[in-house]
Amino acid sequence: MDVLEKAKILSNEGSYDSCGPKMCEVKVNSGLGGIYHAKAEHKTCRIFKTLMDNSCKFDCKYCQNSSSCKNSSRKAAYEPEELAKIFMHLNKNLAVEGLFLSSGVSGNPDKTTEKMLEAVKILRYREKFKGYLHFKILPGTSYELIKQASELSTRMSINIETPNKSAMSELSTCKDYKIDILRRQSWISRFNLRSGQVTQLILNKNSTDSDILKMMDWEYKSLNLKRIYFSSFMPVRGTPLEKEKPESLNRQNHLYNIDFLRRGYGFELKEFKEVMKDGMLPDEDPKLALAKTNFQGAIDINEADYEELIRIPGIGPKTAGMILKSKREIKKYEQLKQFGASIHRAKPFIEVDGKRQKMITEF
Ligand code: SF4
Repeated sequence: MDVLEKAKILSNEGSYDSCGPKMCEVKVNSGLGGIYHAKAEHKTCRIFKTLMDNSCKFDCKYCQNSSSCKNSSRKAAYEPEELAKIFMHLNKNLAVEGLFLSSGVSGNPDKTTEKMLEAVKILRYREKFKGYLHFKILPGTSYELIKQASELSTRMSINIETPNKSAMSELSTCKDYKIDILRRQSWISRFNLRSGQVTQLILNKNSTDSDILKMMDWEYKSLNLKRIYFSSFMPVRGTPLEKEKPESLNRQNHLYNIDFLRRGYGFELKEFKEVMKDGMLPDEDPKLALAKTNFQGAIDINEADYEELIRIPGIGPKTAGMILKSKREIKKYEQLKQFGASIHRAKPFIEVDGKRQKMITEF
Protein backbone atom coordinates (compact mmCIF):
# COMPACT_ATOMS: atom_id res chain seq x y z
CA MET A 1 0.00 0.00 0.00
CA ASP A 2 1.48 3.42 -0.89
CA VAL A 3 1.82 6.26 1.62
CA LEU A 4 -1.04 8.31 0.18
CA GLU A 5 -3.41 5.37 0.51
CA LYS A 6 -2.29 4.88 4.12
CA ALA A 7 -2.76 8.59 4.79
CA LYS A 8 -6.35 8.46 3.48
CA ILE A 9 -7.26 5.49 5.70
CA LEU A 10 -5.46 6.67 8.83
CA SER A 11 -6.52 10.30 8.67
CA ASN A 12 -10.19 9.44 8.11
CA GLU A 13 -10.14 7.29 11.21
CA GLY A 14 -8.36 9.94 13.24
CA SER A 15 -11.60 11.94 13.08
CA TYR A 16 -13.02 10.20 16.18
CA ASP A 17 -10.58 12.07 18.43
CA SER A 18 -11.35 15.70 19.22
CA CYS A 19 -8.74 18.41 18.87
CA GLY A 20 -11.32 20.94 20.05
CA PRO A 21 -15.07 21.14 20.66
CA LYS A 22 -16.67 19.32 17.71
CA MET A 23 -18.62 22.43 16.68
CA CYS A 24 -15.31 24.35 16.38
CA GLU A 25 -13.54 21.79 14.19
CA VAL A 26 -14.03 22.52 10.49
CA LYS A 27 -12.88 19.93 8.00
CA VAL A 28 -10.75 21.33 5.16
CA ASN A 29 -11.68 20.07 1.72
CA SER A 30 -8.26 18.81 0.68
CA GLY A 31 -8.84 15.46 -1.03
CA LEU A 32 -7.31 13.90 2.07
CA GLY A 33 -9.45 13.45 5.21
CA GLY A 34 -8.02 14.59 8.51
CA ILE A 35 -7.18 18.25 7.86
CA TYR A 36 -9.13 20.60 10.12
CA HIS A 37 -9.28 24.24 11.04
CA ALA A 38 -9.16 24.06 14.82
CA LYS A 39 -8.05 26.20 17.71
CA ALA A 40 -4.52 25.56 18.95
CA GLU A 41 -2.57 27.84 21.24
CA HIS A 42 -5.10 30.70 21.10
CA LYS A 43 -5.30 30.83 17.31
CA THR A 44 -7.06 28.90 14.61
CA CYS A 45 -4.72 26.83 12.48
CA ARG A 46 -4.74 23.88 10.12
CA ILE A 47 -4.18 20.61 11.92
CA PHE A 48 -3.57 17.19 10.41
CA LYS A 49 -5.28 14.56 12.55
CA THR A 50 -4.17 11.00 11.99
CA LEU A 51 -3.70 7.60 13.55
CA MET A 52 -0.30 5.89 13.42
CA ASP A 53 -1.97 2.49 13.12
CA ASN A 54 -5.67 1.59 12.92
CA SER A 55 -5.40 -1.98 14.30
CA CYS A 56 -6.28 -2.32 17.97
CA LYS A 57 -6.22 -5.22 20.39
CA PHE A 58 -8.63 -3.49 22.79
CA ASP A 59 -12.35 -4.21 22.66
CA CYS A 60 -13.98 -0.78 23.18
CA LYS A 61 -17.54 -1.55 22.11
CA TYR A 62 -18.12 1.80 20.35
CA CYS A 63 -14.96 1.85 18.23
CA GLN A 64 -14.61 0.75 14.63
CA ASN A 65 -10.94 -0.14 15.16
CA SER A 66 -11.59 -2.41 18.12
CA SER A 67 -11.16 -6.18 18.18
CA SER A 68 -14.94 -6.45 18.79
CA CYS A 69 -15.91 -4.70 15.52
CA LYS A 70 -17.18 -7.10 12.84
CA ASN A 71 -17.10 -4.51 10.11
CA SER A 72 -13.51 -3.45 10.44
CA SER A 73 -12.05 -1.17 7.82
CA ARG A 74 -8.86 -1.74 5.81
CA LYS A 75 -5.88 -1.91 8.09
CA ALA A 76 -2.90 0.37 7.67
CA ALA A 77 0.07 1.59 9.69
CA TYR A 78 2.69 4.21 8.92
CA GLU A 79 6.39 3.65 9.22
CA PRO A 80 7.77 6.68 11.15
CA GLU A 81 9.53 7.99 8.01
CA GLU A 82 6.29 7.80 6.05
CA LEU A 83 4.32 9.85 8.55
CA ALA A 84 7.08 12.45 8.77
CA LYS A 85 7.20 12.67 4.98
CA ILE A 86 3.44 13.08 4.51
CA PHE A 87 3.21 15.66 7.31
CA MET A 88 6.08 17.77 5.93
CA HIS A 89 4.45 17.61 2.50
CA LEU A 90 1.18 18.96 3.98
CA ASN A 91 3.11 21.54 5.98
CA LYS A 92 4.85 22.92 2.89
CA ASN A 93 2.05 22.59 0.33
CA LEU A 94 -1.22 22.94 2.24
CA ALA A 95 -0.14 25.25 5.07
CA VAL A 96 -0.82 22.58 7.69
CA GLU A 97 0.67 23.97 10.91
CA GLY A 98 -0.06 21.30 13.49
CA LEU A 99 -0.12 17.54 13.98
CA PHE A 100 -2.56 15.59 16.14
CA LEU A 101 -1.20 12.07 16.47
CA SER A 102 -3.14 9.16 17.96
CA SER A 103 -3.19 5.42 17.32
CA GLY A 104 -4.85 2.08 17.85
CA VAL A 105 -2.86 -0.33 20.00
CA SER A 106 -1.92 -3.11 17.60
CA GLY A 107 0.13 -5.06 20.13
CA ASN A 108 1.96 -3.58 23.05
CA PRO A 109 1.14 0.12 23.84
CA ASP A 110 4.86 0.84 24.28
CA LYS A 111 5.76 -0.61 20.86
CA THR A 112 3.17 1.61 19.14
CA THR A 113 4.21 4.65 21.18
CA GLU A 114 7.88 4.07 20.26
CA LYS A 115 6.91 4.28 16.58
CA MET A 116 4.90 7.45 17.18
CA LEU A 117 7.87 8.94 19.03
CA GLU A 118 10.24 8.02 16.24
CA ALA A 119 8.07 9.91 13.74
CA VAL A 120 7.84 12.92 16.04
CA LYS A 121 11.63 12.94 16.61
CA ILE A 122 12.18 13.03 12.85
CA LEU A 123 9.84 16.04 12.63
CA ARG A 124 11.34 17.91 15.56
CA TYR A 125 15.08 17.11 15.14
CA ARG A 126 15.64 16.47 11.44
CA GLU A 127 12.87 18.53 9.83
CA LYS A 128 13.10 21.29 12.51
CA PHE A 129 9.31 21.42 12.78
CA LYS A 130 8.55 23.77 15.68
CA GLY A 131 4.74 23.97 15.40
CA TYR A 132 1.83 22.54 17.37
CA LEU A 133 2.02 18.85 18.21
CA HIS A 134 -0.72 17.03 20.15
CA PHE A 135 0.45 13.57 21.26
CA LYS A 136 -2.23 11.11 22.32
CA ILE A 137 -1.05 8.71 25.03
CA LEU A 138 -2.31 5.14 24.68
CA PRO A 139 -3.80 3.31 27.68
CA GLY A 140 -1.03 1.47 29.55
CA THR A 141 1.98 3.34 28.05
CA SER A 142 5.07 3.33 30.31
CA TYR A 143 6.20 6.35 32.32
CA GLU A 144 9.53 6.62 30.47
CA LEU A 145 7.84 6.95 27.06
CA ILE A 146 5.28 9.44 28.36
CA LYS A 147 8.18 11.53 29.66
CA GLN A 148 9.91 11.39 26.27
CA ALA A 149 6.68 12.40 24.52
CA SER A 150 6.26 15.35 26.89
CA GLU A 151 9.64 16.73 25.79
CA LEU A 152 8.50 16.82 22.16
CA SER A 153 4.82 17.77 22.46
CA THR A 154 2.88 20.99 22.79
CA ARG A 155 -0.18 19.27 24.23
CA MET A 156 -0.88 15.72 25.45
CA SER A 157 -3.98 13.74 26.27
CA ILE A 158 -5.32 10.32 27.09
CA ASN A 159 -9.01 9.71 26.55
CA ILE A 160 -10.76 9.12 29.86
CA GLU A 161 -13.95 8.17 27.91
CA THR A 162 -16.16 7.66 31.00
CA PRO A 163 -16.55 9.44 34.35
CA ASN A 164 -15.98 6.33 36.46
CA LYS A 165 -14.85 2.72 36.53
CA SER A 166 -18.31 1.17 36.32
CA ALA A 167 -19.24 3.15 33.19
CA MET A 168 -15.93 2.10 31.62
CA SER A 169 -16.65 -1.57 32.34
CA GLU A 170 -19.80 -1.23 30.17
CA LEU A 171 -17.62 -0.17 27.24
CA SER A 172 -14.43 -2.21 27.52
CA THR A 173 -13.22 -5.30 29.33
CA CYS A 174 -9.54 -4.60 28.62
CA LYS A 175 -8.82 -1.14 29.97
CA ASP A 176 -8.14 -0.78 33.68
CA TYR A 177 -9.72 2.61 34.38
CA LYS A 178 -7.57 3.52 37.37
CA ILE A 179 -4.25 2.10 36.22
CA ASP A 180 -4.28 2.38 32.41
CA ILE A 181 -5.98 5.79 32.29
CA LEU A 182 -6.11 7.81 35.54
CA ARG A 183 -2.55 6.89 36.52
CA ARG A 184 -1.30 7.93 33.07
CA GLN A 185 -3.18 11.22 33.35
CA SER A 186 -1.51 11.89 36.67
CA TRP A 187 1.92 11.18 35.12
CA ILE A 188 1.21 13.57 32.25
CA SER A 189 0.24 16.27 34.77
CA ARG A 190 3.82 16.23 36.15
CA PHE A 191 5.27 17.56 32.90
CA ASN A 192 5.45 21.11 31.71
CA LEU A 193 3.52 21.27 28.43
CA ARG A 194 3.03 24.54 26.58
CA SER A 195 -0.66 23.80 25.91
CA GLY A 196 -1.23 21.48 28.86
CA GLN A 197 -3.20 18.27 29.14
CA VAL A 198 -6.73 17.68 27.83
CA THR A 199 -9.08 14.69 27.70
CA GLN A 200 -12.22 13.44 26.01
CA LEU A 201 -15.43 11.88 27.37
CA ILE A 202 -18.11 9.94 25.53
CA LEU A 203 -21.65 10.89 26.54
CA ASN A 204 -23.95 7.89 26.63
CA LYS A 205 -26.74 6.36 28.68
CA ASN A 206 -24.33 4.74 31.17
CA SER A 207 -23.32 8.02 32.80
CA THR A 208 -25.41 10.82 34.23
CA ASP A 209 -24.59 14.51 33.87
CA SER A 210 -24.00 14.52 37.61
CA ASP A 211 -21.29 11.81 37.20
CA ILE A 212 -19.73 13.86 34.38
CA LEU A 213 -19.66 17.15 36.33
CA LYS A 214 -18.18 15.40 39.37
CA MET A 215 -15.40 13.90 37.27
CA MET A 216 -14.76 17.22 35.47
CA ASP A 217 -14.40 18.99 38.80
CA TRP A 218 -11.88 16.40 39.99
CA GLU A 219 -9.92 16.47 36.73
CA TYR A 220 -9.66 20.27 36.67
CA LYS A 221 -8.78 20.62 40.35
CA SER A 222 -6.53 17.59 40.90
CA LEU A 223 -4.84 17.21 37.51
CA ASN A 224 -4.97 20.80 36.33
CA LEU A 225 -6.43 19.83 32.96
CA LYS A 226 -6.72 22.58 30.35
CA ARG A 227 -9.90 21.36 28.68
CA ILE A 228 -12.32 18.45 28.63
CA TYR A 229 -13.96 17.63 25.30
CA PHE A 230 -17.25 15.76 24.91
CA SER A 231 -18.48 13.50 22.23
CA SER A 232 -22.11 12.37 22.15
CA PHE A 233 -22.24 8.65 21.41
CA MET A 234 -22.90 7.70 17.78
CA PRO A 235 -23.39 4.03 16.91
CA VAL A 236 -20.85 2.61 14.46
CA ARG A 237 -21.83 -0.22 12.10
CA GLY A 238 -20.37 -3.60 13.03
CA THR A 239 -19.69 -2.72 16.68
CA PRO A 240 -21.54 -4.38 19.59
CA LEU A 241 -23.34 -1.05 20.16
CA GLU A 242 -24.49 -0.57 16.55
CA LYS A 243 -28.18 -0.80 17.51
CA GLU A 244 -27.98 1.69 20.40
CA LYS A 245 -29.61 5.11 19.96
CA PRO A 246 -27.28 8.05 19.30
CA GLU A 247 -26.93 10.43 22.23
CA SER A 248 -28.43 13.88 21.79
CA LEU A 249 -26.10 16.61 20.58
CA ASN A 250 -27.91 19.02 22.92
CA ARG A 251 -26.41 17.15 25.88
CA GLN A 252 -22.93 17.75 24.49
CA ASN A 253 -23.74 21.44 23.86
CA HIS A 254 -25.12 21.99 27.39
CA LEU A 255 -21.96 20.49 28.93
CA TYR A 256 -19.78 22.71 26.72
CA ASN A 257 -21.86 25.69 27.89
CA ILE A 258 -21.30 24.76 31.52
CA ASP A 259 -17.58 24.36 30.92
CA PHE A 260 -17.55 27.81 29.30
CA LEU A 261 -19.38 29.29 32.31
CA ARG A 262 -16.72 27.71 34.56
CA ARG A 263 -13.77 29.03 32.55
CA GLY A 264 -15.07 32.39 31.45
CA TYR A 265 -17.42 33.38 34.29
CA GLY A 266 -16.05 31.51 37.32
CA PHE A 267 -19.18 29.39 37.93
CA GLU A 268 -18.63 26.34 40.13
CA LEU A 269 -19.63 23.06 38.47
CA LYS A 270 -21.52 22.01 41.62
CA GLU A 271 -23.93 24.98 41.17
CA PHE A 272 -25.62 23.09 38.34
CA LYS A 273 -26.71 20.28 40.69
CA GLU A 274 -29.57 22.57 41.70
CA VAL A 275 -31.24 22.27 38.30
CA MET A 276 -30.69 18.53 37.79
CA LYS A 277 -33.40 15.91 37.96
CA ASP A 278 -32.34 12.30 38.50
CA GLY A 279 -28.75 13.37 37.84
CA MET A 280 -29.54 14.90 34.43
CA LEU A 281 -29.50 18.54 33.33
CA PRO A 282 -32.68 19.99 31.80
CA ASP A 283 -32.69 20.29 28.03
CA GLU A 284 -32.19 24.06 27.97
CA ASP A 285 -29.45 26.66 28.24
CA PRO A 286 -27.81 25.89 31.64
CA LYS A 287 -27.39 29.56 32.65
CA LEU A 288 -31.07 30.25 31.96
CA ALA A 289 -32.13 27.10 33.87
CA LEU A 290 -30.02 28.18 36.86
CA ALA A 291 -31.40 31.72 36.82
CA LYS A 292 -35.01 30.47 36.63
CA THR A 293 -34.40 28.28 39.69
CA ASN A 294 -32.39 30.72 41.78
CA PHE A 295 -33.73 34.21 41.15
CA GLN A 296 -36.43 34.96 43.72
CA GLY A 297 -37.39 38.28 42.17
CA ALA A 298 -36.05 40.79 39.70
CA ILE A 299 -32.59 42.19 40.42
CA ASP A 300 -32.14 45.94 40.47
CA ILE A 301 -29.41 46.40 37.88
CA ASN A 302 -28.01 49.42 39.74
CA GLU A 303 -27.75 47.53 43.04
CA ALA A 304 -26.40 44.15 41.87
CA ASP A 305 -22.79 43.17 42.56
CA TYR A 306 -20.54 41.45 40.00
CA GLU A 307 -21.43 37.91 41.13
CA GLU A 308 -25.15 38.64 40.75
CA LEU A 309 -24.73 40.41 37.42
CA ILE A 310 -22.88 37.56 35.68
CA ARG A 311 -25.62 35.13 36.74
CA ILE A 312 -28.24 37.11 34.81
CA PRO A 313 -28.90 35.55 31.37
CA GLY A 314 -27.72 37.90 28.62
CA ILE A 315 -25.03 39.52 30.78
CA GLY A 316 -21.42 38.35 30.58
CA PRO A 317 -18.27 39.38 32.47
CA LYS A 318 -17.49 42.28 30.09
CA THR A 319 -21.00 43.75 30.32
CA ALA A 320 -21.04 43.23 34.11
CA GLY A 321 -17.76 45.16 34.37
CA MET A 322 -19.19 48.03 32.27
CA ILE A 323 -22.38 48.16 34.38
CA LEU A 324 -20.28 48.47 37.54
CA LYS A 325 -18.14 51.22 35.97
CA SER A 326 -21.22 53.21 34.91
CA LYS A 327 -21.55 54.59 38.45
CA ARG A 328 -24.83 52.68 38.66
CA GLU A 329 -26.85 55.24 36.80
CA ILE A 330 -28.63 53.00 34.34
CA LYS A 331 -32.07 54.39 33.62
CA LYS A 332 -32.91 52.70 30.31
CA TYR A 333 -32.60 49.26 28.75
CA GLU A 334 -30.85 50.89 25.78
CA GLN A 335 -27.89 51.72 28.03
CA LEU A 336 -27.53 48.03 28.84
CA LYS A 337 -27.72 47.21 25.16
CA GLN A 338 -24.82 49.58 24.52
CA PHE A 339 -22.80 47.63 27.09
CA GLY A 340 -23.38 44.45 25.09
CA ALA A 341 -26.22 42.89 27.13
CA SER A 342 -28.80 40.72 25.40
CA ILE A 343 -31.90 42.61 26.55
CA HIS A 344 -34.31 39.91 25.43
CA ARG A 345 -32.59 37.34 27.70
CA ALA A 346 -32.00 39.69 30.62
CA LYS A 347 -35.41 41.45 30.83
CA PRO A 348 -37.31 38.86 32.92
CA PHE A 349 -34.62 38.92 35.60
CA ILE A 350 -33.92 42.62 36.05
CA GLU A 351 -35.37 45.93 37.11
CA VAL A 352 -34.16 49.13 35.47
CA ASP A 353 -35.01 52.37 37.23
CA GLY A 354 -37.45 50.51 39.48
CA LYS A 355 -39.35 48.95 36.56
CA ARG A 356 -39.55 45.40 35.29
CA GLN A 357 -40.69 44.82 31.72
CA LYS A 358 -41.06 41.06 31.50
CA MET A 359 -41.84 38.33 34.03
CA ILE A 360 -39.80 35.12 34.26
CA THR A 361 -42.95 33.14 33.47
CA GLU A 362 -43.23 35.02 30.15
CA PHE A 363 -39.78 33.90 29.03
S1 SF4 B 1 -8.13 1.79 22.59
FE1 SF4 B 1 -8.78 3.41 21.17
S2 SF4 B 1 -8.46 2.54 19.11
FE2 SF4 B 1 -8.39 0.85 20.58
S3 SF4 B 1 -10.46 0.01 20.58
FE3 SF4 B 1 -10.33 1.48 22.27
S4 SF4 B 1 -11.01 3.45 21.40
FE4 SF4 B 1 -10.55 2.05 19.67
